[in-house]
Amino acid sequence: MSHCSVIAIDGPSGSGKSTVAKSLAKELGILYIDTGAMFRALAYVANERSIPLDSDSEVESFLKSIKVDYQSEEGSLIKVDGIDLSERIREHHVSKLASIISQIAPVRTFLLDFQRELANSKVCVMEGRDIGTVVFPEAFCKFFVTASIEVRAKRRYDQLLDKGQEDVDLDQLKKDVKKRDDKDMGRDVAPLKKADDAELVDTSEMPLDTVISHLKGMVSNRASEIGINL
Ligand code: C5P
Repeated sequence: MSHCSVIAIDGPSGSGKSTVAKSLAKELGILYIDTGAMFRALAYVANERSIPLDSDSEVESFLKSIKVDYQSEEGSLIKVDGIDLSERIREHHVSKLASIISQIAPVRTFLLDFQRELANSKVCVMEGRDIGTVVFPEAFCKFFVTASIEVRAKRRYDQLLDKGQEDVDLDQLKKDVKKRDDKDMGRDVAPLKKADDAELVDTSEMPLDTVISHLKGMVSNRASEIGINL
């Protein structure tokens, strides 16, 4: 198989994959692409515009009508129709909307093309749920980052407390994490799953520094093995 210069990082939410993916890209001095931000942005805008998600034709005309910009300028992660959504897509309710919209086939096709175009033979770290399985099955390095439900719920709990949110219920968060996993893993199109050739990385007990240096070593070895310049 011929390989492409993408490092694919997949895994469930709260597994630490975003932190790992971002830090790895920074350490290697290469582009980092956050595909979750794209689903979040589309979900946010579709919700604002009351797009009926049960109608494929309405969804398709919505997708045809919008312009998405990813990292088009300093300080902006994602824009739709020129409006910067980098902050708004992190609101708690958007996670649920993104999980719903990500099950819609035309949305996945639209973002699949967008993601392939964006990476377009660049050396980059691309993070998501289906990067190693569907978007770039020929990625030269693939990681599936995970952690136990308890650890992931506790991380979310600490984040919300840090943001000053009160009334956070750890048991409810565990249920939310489990629900989102079931949705992501159970959907018909591009479900969340480990690619056969992806390295499993469990961050439940491992400090972040250790995870990153482990991954960095593996990427460097693999890159020199197949002649990719990092
Ligand atoms: O990674 P993040 O939590 O920002 O992703 C938001 C949602 O977008 C996820 O819960 C998942 O349903 C969806 N998603 C996806 N495929 C990707 C990235 C994200 O289905 N490649």
